[in-house]
Amino acid sequence: MRVSFDLDEVLFVSPVTHKTEPALRFPMNKIYKERLRLGTPELIRELQGQGYEVWVYTSSYRSERYIRGLFRCYGVRFDGIVNAMRHLEENQKGSSTILPQKVPNRYQIALHVDDESVICSYGREYGFEAYQLDAPDDKWKEKVIAKAAEVRKKWERKKIQK
Ligand SMILES: [Mg+2]
Repeated sequence: MRVSFDLDEVLFVSPVTHKTEPALRFPMNKIYKERLRLGTPELIRELQGQGYEVWVYTSSYRSERYIRGLFRCYGVRFDGIVNAMRHLEENQKGSSTILPQKVPNRYQIALHVDDESVICSYGREYGFEAYQLDAPDDKWKEKVIAKAAEVRKKWERKKIQK
């Protein structure tokens, strides 16, 4: 099952308002300035260890190469990345209907974690589950893992029915 994370305000947070992973060492800290929410590498590896595919779904224009490069410094390898370019190219090009900024269901993503309530609210209509996260939360890893387990149960039940 696929789980995706938004970047800004979810995995990338400000050290002023949130607990963060240590900054990278020079010179990597000059290339990659974003700071990761504390526990991000551990959570992603834990989810992958439990058999989930972990993706990034961001409406930012950061390149796939940049995102992969940054996370590689923290020992994290994503299974897939959707940025604004890819989203527009694959979903919006040649289409007259304006889709939401993110359509995780089009990538078979069953659970998407985002800070924006509007994106989470599309889940019901478009067919994906969402977990809203923005404020600092010391228990966020446990909560995301629990939510993923809950969605996986439903998802497996649906698969059997098909
Ligand atoms: Mg965001």
